[in-house]
Amino acid sequence: MKTQDPDTEPQVPECRPLPWQVPLWRLLQQARAQGRPPHALLLHGPPGMGKAHFAQLLAQSALCGSPDEEGLPCGHCRDCRLFAAGNHPDLLSLEPPADKTQIHVDQVRAIGEFLALKPQYGRAQCVVLQPAEALNESAANSLLKTLEEPTPGALLMLVTPRSAALAATIRSRCQHFLFAPPATGTQREQALAWLRERLPQAGAEGEWDATRLLELAGGAPLAALRLAQEGGLEVCDAVLQDLERLAAGEGDPLETAEKWLKSDAKASLYWLYHWTAEVLRLRLGRQVSALGRGRQARLAQLVQGLDARRLFRLLDAAAEALRLLDRQLNETLLLESLCIDWYETLNPRR
Ligand SMILES: [Zn+2]
Repeated sequence: MKTQDPDTEPQVPECRPLPWQVPLWRLLQQARAQGRPPHALLLHGPPGMGKAHFAQLLAQSALCGSPDEEGLPCGHCRDCRLFAAGNHPDLLSLEPPADKTQIHVDQVRAIGEFLALKPQYGRAQCVVLQPAEALNESAANSLLKTLEEPTPGALLMLVTPRSAALAATIRSRCQHFLFAPPATGTQREQALAWLRERLPQAGAEGEWDATRLLELAGGAPLAALRLAQEGGLEVCDAVLQDLERLAAGEGDPLETAEKWLKSDAKASLYWLYHWTAEVLRLRLGRQVSALGRGRQARLAQLVQGLDARRLFRLLDAAAEALRLLDRQLNETLLLESLCIDWYETLNPRR
């Protein structure tokens, strides 16, 4: 099952909703059973909540020839097999072309052409568009027309970590579902149990602490899993150390970027994003995360005299770089520019 998310979601092999998604799954299946299926959904919330997985599962469920009583796809009918192979003719998936960051108007026009055809297997037609904030202006205008004239039996899903970046006209024509990090007792416990079952075997850091990872990932379970899978805490400390060296004037920004590129560009960037957020929190007088608390004195040293506006910009730049890195744009340039920005923020008078 393809569950590539625009941000940081690893693959989810499960053919069922993730535990914290079950209430929403039931709600949508109920609506379908009562003959009022949704036609346009906006699935939004932070990366690592499994939105892409949910959208794919919902599409497969709508196309499956014999879903069970919970609406779960059977996994072995002709539709499910075609779906798994990425070849179902009644599913259209849209994302930016491999070398681009935007979804263009031609791609959106293809939705109109797709929906103008009858479903090949007669059950439904599904369109999954992600990341929806990648729609450029003319693409968004074109999509608006499709949203204004819904096709019976068609389900259009827009998936985005940043719904605010979408045009208000698009947002107002969709049913919104927020995938918020599970904060309450049961759902949080479910997320922790899910995470514990999937954590890799302990590495040099010893046992993974699921609670700590989840907290570190802002409560998003798939993001927490990804942290554990991708170099984890060793890279975490190395990046903080590199920032300290830059602050002390001992490090060179370009050499730092080169070092990160040679070790693990993505993990380094993830941790750079993390430490930027932590430093910013501290700068604004807020509480740092569990992992940050263990290093609070070092962070406090780092934060001295830093400009909050610059930190906001650095955080934005790191988030954008993470997104771009997924699209395999020039990672050397991305990391170098971030390291230089950090260096200048840390050493404003040098
Ligand atoms: Zn099936």
